[in-house]
Parts: sequence; structure tokens; C-alpha cells
Amino acid sequence: MKNKKIIVAGNWKMNKTYLEAKEFIAKLNQLPDYTSQVIIAAPSLYVDTLFINNQKENLALALQNCSAYESGAFTGEISARMIASLQLKYCIVGHSERRSYFEETDEIISDKIAQLIHYNVQPIFCIGETLQERKVNETFNVIRKQLVRGLEKVPVEKIGNIVLAYEPVWAIGTGMTATKEQAAEVHKFIFQLLSEIYNPEAAARIPILYGGSCNEKNAEELFYQPHIWGGLIGGASLDVNSFYKIIQIAEKINGE
Ligand code: PEP
Repeated sequence: MKNKKIIVAGNWKMNKTYLEAKEFIAKLNQLPDYTSQVIIAAPSLYVDTLFINNQKENLALALQNCSAYESGAFTGEISARMIASLQLKYCIVGHSERRSYFEETDEIISDKIAQLIHYNVQPIFCIGETLQERKVNETFNVIRKQLVRGLEKVPVEKIGNIVLAYEPVWAIGTGMTATKEQAAEVHKFIFQLLSEIYNPEAAARIPILYGGSCNEKNAEELFYQPHIWGGLIGGASLDVNSFYKIIQIAEKINGE
């Protein structure tokens, strides 16, 4: 795929104190520059300060979640409009931890995506099957349902603002990475589905990241698969040296 550019996105989840987060950014600032798109979804509380401290042109700070609502009496929530007001470009949505621990349905996720798109914040839209679903050969059905419902409110002219992340739930935080064949098969399926829902030209421009125990040891073989556009990295994004090694893999592939 000629237009494919590898993206490296970190998801810190609910980790790092303010000082730890600042130290990470300070260390990253000292490492050699890179041209690949790198994203870190940090705790929302510090995103703005990290954004100010960041000296890397290609590092975008992102949020891990947003509200399905525009504004109003929703204590504790952060809206897409607020995210846009800080000029933040990305926000994760539909992560499996939000789906399972916070009971986020496809409908809620679809509303969140609609809010983000409305305010020109790019959703990093996560989809993926559980181990049980894979065992009973439901992977493709689950992916189809999550994708179709999640993108329900995204018209073709806005699809270029979406980043997808295929994250098999059984691979997240477990050390059980999908093999490159398993990941490639689902990524190809997602690409075909996007071609059906929209059209092949639009589908070819939508990045599909892989997530699930992706690290500096397995990233390269995964990123070389035709429909894998990089990684959404949890655990391995917490250590600046591991994360930077993954950035270097992206640099190598993007430079070829
Ligand atoms: C994630 O939470 O998005 C993730 C991929 O986590 P990990 O890399 O730790 O499996």
C-alpha cells in the first residue's frame, strides 16, 4: 500500500503521576527527532501541560475518552468541544475497557464519534472481539457490528478524519499478541468492510492500527502487514525507551 504511513499511538490509561508524565515528555524531547506521526493519549488532567512542554513537532497529545453529549449537566465529563478548544487532534473512543467496565454500548460510542467528528477531533475508534467470541468463530460478526454501528453517523466526506484500531480484547494487557497472520486477516476484513460501507478509495485512506500487547519486539512484523498502519500501544508506551524503539520501527518502515 503506497499511501500507508505508520502511526505510533500510546495509551497511558490511568497511569503516571503528573511528575512522571512530565519526565517522560522531557526524556522524549531529548531523543532524536522523527517524522512519523506519534500520539500519546495521556490522562486528561495533564494533557494541556504536556502539550505545552512537548517540543516534538510530530507528537500529538490525545484524550482517552470523551462524552457522548455536547455540553450541560454531566458532572465529571469532558466534551469533544472542550477537547477541540485545546487544539487537540485525537481522542480514543470505544476502548474495550470502556465497553466492558463502563458499559459503553455501540450507540453511545457512535454518539461520541459524532461529537468528535463535529468538532474536528479525530476519533481513534477501537473495535475487537473477546476470546470467547473468537473461539466460537464470531470475530468477523463482532467486528462488522461494532464498525457499522460506530460509524453510523459518519458520512463519507468525514471518513478521512477517522483512525481505527483493531484491538482483540484477549490480547490487551495479556502479553498474548495476535500473530501477524491473525492480525492481518482481521485488518484486511476491516478494509473490505470500509470499502463496502464507503468506497475502496476512501477505505484505502483510513489508518487501521493494531493494539494488544504490541511492543518493540513484535511491532516490526505486525507493521509490515499490508493493512496494518501502526500500533495502539498500552503497556509498552509507559516506558520512554520502549516507546521510542517502536517509533524507530515506524521511522524505518516509513522511510522505505
Ligand atoms: C490498549 O489498552 O489499547 C492496549 C493495546 O494495551 P496493551 O498494549 O497493554 O495490550
